[in-house]
Amino acid sequence: MPIQILDENTINKIAAGEVIERPSSVVKELVENAIDAKATAITIEIKDGGITFIRVTDNGCGIDKSEIELAFLRHSTSKIRSVEDLVGVASLGFRGEALSSIASVAQVELITKTKRSLCGTRYVIEGGTGAELEEVGAPDGTTFIVRNLFYNTPVRRQFLKTPATEAGYTASLVEHLALSHPEISFRFINNNQNKLYTSGNGNIKDIIYHINGRDTAANLLEVSKSTQDITISGYIGKPVIGRGNRAYENYFINGRYIKSSIITRAIEEAYVGFTMVHKYPFTALHFNIKSELLDVNVHPAKLELRFSQNEFIYNFVRDSLRDVLAHRELVPGMSLDSARSEKTAAASDTSARQASGSKERTVRLAEPFEIKRQEYVRETSPEYGDAINQQTAGNEQTSLFAAGESGAYAAEPKIIGQVFNTYWLIEFEDRLFIMDQHAAHEKILYEKTMRMIDGQQPASQMIAPPVILTLSLREQEALRTNIKVFEALGFEIEEFGGNEYKVTGVPALLPDIDSRELLIEILDALADDKSMSKPELITQKAASMSCKAAVKGNMEMSAKEARHLAEELMKADNPYNCPHGRPTLISISKRELEKKFKRIV
Ligand code: ADP
Ligand code: MG
Repeated sequence: MPIQILDENTINKIAAGEVIERPSSVVKELVENAIDAKATAITIEIKDGGITFIRVTDNGCGIDKSEIELAFLRHSTSKIRSVEDLVGVASLGFRGEALSSIASVAQVELITKTKRSLCGTRYVIEGGTGAELEEVGAPDGTTFIVRNLFYNTPVRRQFLKTPATEAGYTASLVEHLALSHPEISFRFINNNQNKLYTSGNGNIKDIIYHINGRDTAANLLEVSKSTQDITISGYIGKPVIGRGNRAYENYFINGRYIKSSIITRAIEEAYVGFTMVHKYPFTALHFNIKSELLDVNVHPAKLELRFSQNEFIYNFVRDSLRDVLAHRELVPGMSLDSARSEKTAAASDTSARQASGSKERTVRLAEPFEIKRQEYVRETSPEYGDAINQQTAGNEQTSLFAAGESGAYAAEPKIIGQVFNTYWLIEFEDRLFIMDQHAAHEKILYEKTMRMIDGQQPASQMIAPPVILTLSLREQEALRTNIKVFEALGFEIEEFGGNEYKVTGVPALLPDIDSRELLIEILDALADDKSMSKPELITQKAASMSCKAAVKGNMEMSAKEARHLAEELMKADNPYNCPHGRPTLISISKRELEKKFKRIV
């Protein structure tokens, strides 16, 4: 065959092979165009899985009559002018290939009107060949109707799955689009049935409720973190609603539903220790990342994104989510249906909120086997009693709460014994708790240390003879600038002439650790690390020093000590996780045991 330049139509069909794979790809391109056109409401309608009929209607800016034919040409776009614009591109599309590709493999009808024009325009283009432009009455905005996809490329059509499967692809696409743009109202109609409607009020939680249902919406933790270059906002699921696959790991980068292995790994890493292996979290997160850190010019079929600072992004994402997870208040159940206790907690949440009559206020009712929070909640929220009364109707924990309410504790934890030299079995009310002695001790020390740093009286223990340290210039500088922090921790340090410093007091809480080693470790980190802010660094060190000071697993401990530990743990702000996020306690209810032993079904 002699060498020839391909005609425009053939080029478009080839391009369509890349961009348009199935009905959902058409929907994706059309909806992204609508979003780029600043629509606030978008309707997506499909029939027969979108194979015979797709309609996307928006109330965006419309296309000017003079530009309609141009819009269907390959590489025609209003979104960038030159390669330079690619850096920092804010719109979803910019390649200018979608309309030409779609029109080359389907029958397309367009009705559009801009605000400025008096009437709308209708344009029909089939297999890449356009008809005359017609004037029609139309509201502001744009409607695309795409009929009989791949009608002129039968081989491609054969590769489509059943209409039901294709409809499923579009449905999940629309869900992602709705989640990625909570400020836009989406309506999705499949075979004349309304399948999804979002109000566009900007509330992601509402959308999650619509898409994933009540249970998921009741088990969310809010995320809101930012640095100069990245903002993360949205929700992550409590570990209890973890899934068997990654399908619920939704996240959006600058408004796009894009996969990034870096972010996916960071999310999953954050859940390590909170969730079981082979469980994947639910997330609906929005990342806003400065465009200088992004490479968005990727292959159309491969939505992998590249960053210029992988490690920074990875760490920031993981740490942000860890933070949120670590502050959650729940004892992981080791249950048949671990969702049960979670649901109860969620229900209490709701009733407490209703009782307080305030949407913002979230009063958490105490979990069993926890003293301090009950007192705390009672003190700080007078409506607590009401909430309890409401939620304990028919609740198996009634007796516990009643005991809490009367101000006196009916029972105290019963220590059964230790297993594997590490774990303590504790019976309390209708639950069996298993406490990891190391994690529990670590947690208690950590919270005490943090309280000390937060300005309460430092507790110092004198050491004799004093420890003499020889410090480098950098270390000396780090010591001088942070001397207050060291003092708050309980260190007493004096200059001793030259490069030498004399340590006369060490943190009283942590008498068993090598404080010399710790001091050096903190100084090194301070002298070394410019990126980490000091409070964070100190917090981290506090965690690691509590860890070092804590009794190890595999160490003998008397029942009396274990009881003391359990009671101390209950006074912690967040008793359920050690500073590294591992659980301190797990529990199983009597009922769950009875189920396991098939005493009840
Ligand atoms: P791209 O989105 O990459 O620019 P497309 O082929 O998807 O390329 O669209 C071509 C052009 O048509 C867009 O740049 C835009 O100007 C216009 N356009 C497409 N859809 C719409 C719409 N729903 N509302 C307004 N303008 C649109
Ligand atoms: Mg586009």
